[in-house]
Amino acid sequence: MSPMKQFYDLVVIGAGPAGSAAAIHGVAAGHDVLLLESGELGRDKTCGDGLTPRAIHELAKLGLAHTLTSHYANHGLKLHGYGGSVTAPWPDSAYGRVGSAMPRTRFDELLARTAAERGATLMTSATAHSPVVTDGRLTEFTVEERQIRAKWVIVADGVRSTFGKALGRKWHQGEVYGIAARSYVDSPRSTEPWMHSHVELRDAAGTLQPGYGWVFPLGDGRLNLGCGALSTTARPAKLNTKKLLTHYTDTLREEWGLGQPQAVASALLPMGGAVSNVAGENWLIIGDAAAGVNPLNGEGIDYGLEMADLAVNLLGSGDDLRSAWPALLREQYGEAFLLARTAARLLTYPKFLPAVGPLALRGPVGAALMPAAARLMANLVTDEDRDLMARLWRTGGHAVSLARRGSPLWS
Ligand SMILES: Cc1cc2nc3c(=O)[nH]c(=O)nc-3n(C[C@H](O)[C@H](O)[C@H](O)COP(=O)(O)OP(=O)(O)OC[C@H]3O[C@@H](n4cnc5c(N)ncnc54)[C@H](O)[C@@H]3O)c2cc1C
Repeated sequence: MSPMKQFYDLVVIGAGPAGSAAAIHGVAAGHDVLLLESGELGRDKTCGDGLTPRAIHELAKLGLAHTLTSHYANHGLKLHGYGGSVTAPWPDSAYGRVGSAMPRTRFDELLARTAAERGATLMTSATAHSPVVTDGRLTEFTVEERQIRAKWVIVADGVRSTFGKALGRKWHQGEVYGIAARSYVDSPRSTEPWMHSHVELRDAAGTLQPGYGWVFPLGDGRLNLGCGALSTTARPAKLNTKKLLTHYTDTLREEWGLGQPQAVASALLPMGGAVSNVAGENWLIIGDAAAGVNPLNGEGIDYGLEMADLAVNLLGSGDDLRSAWPALLREQYGEAFLLARTAARLLTYPKFLPAVGPLALRGPVGAALMPAAARLMANLVTDEDRDLMARLWRTGGHAVSLARRGSPLWS
């Protein structure tokens, strides 16, 4: 780590996937970059650690896809519940057909180290605070009692976004958000090349919970095992995710040869762009801080990586960030996220899943429908796709966008 200067072209706050990717893209664009991280390298982040082909596609742009997939690769999703199981291989798309998974202690360190190796100045145990904003411009802030100034600042400080909040960022929890817990569990099946999702999630009393459980093999003797639920302020998920996780683990112990859960932790997931005030004259917010999480599968790493790329490109464009950044986010993700948010909201109605689940996961209807549904859930439809499902998805996106015009969406 090099010593910190007082002025940089670009300061990135937070070395999670979004921030480190922004630093890597920033260096590649020729900027003098400072990457700040409150924690140490190798800090943990509560996560399922799963990476879809969309994330692998983005990691390829950073030159890191092979590092991930050579360690562990998966071919798609297996969905279970309501007496049935459906296998949904990753679809053939521009994103490729390979996913992966890596514990965040390793993954985030890999990205942050890559940023430093490519030329960013990386400071760990360094918390940015006390931003001074004059006429919408972030003129300076404090790190380790030193004042830092920058031409541009990218804020990638995660779900709590303390720095973002000080800049006026607001999270709208009336829209759907996630609560989830994860653990690491030893298993002889850790190299199995499928991600598993249990959409019929019951607590110890047998009551159906509005969420799903996951088993993501990590290829290193362990599984990331977790469960989560969708919530809104109107219909808050009333569940203890850690307790539910204990029960869920017990139900899978024999099938997966599970050891005891380690490092059990829970966290919130801001979703679907339900935040406002995401940019100022010379700063913008990305990743979880900008609610860049797909409401249908809880995937946020990929959107953080994508936003990092988009943000750095925008800095060089000369556009007014205050309007250009939210407009770009809406253009890129608006329709898909609003549609996903609307579909996810349905899942918070207690009667929805028991009615639809058996149809979706059993028999010929499920076998035909669920691979397509899994493709939509993972947002693996590109603008170039011309098949019926892609066209229906886009039409649904246009319709929901019109119907929910007033909803908070990076407004
Ligand atoms: C239980 C659970 C399971 C999940 N499963 C998956 C999954 O399987 N796949 C997936 O793609 N996504 C998953 N997600 C979502 C994913 O974890 C997040 O979307 C992702 O971590 C967002 O990355 P980020 O870089 O925006 O934020 P973070 O990873 O949270 O990084 C933010 C960083 O900023 C640092 N920071 C904060 N404030 C400051 C400051 N003031 N100064 C300096 N540094 C600061 C923090 O220390 C942190 O390192 C899951 C989330 C949860 C809660």
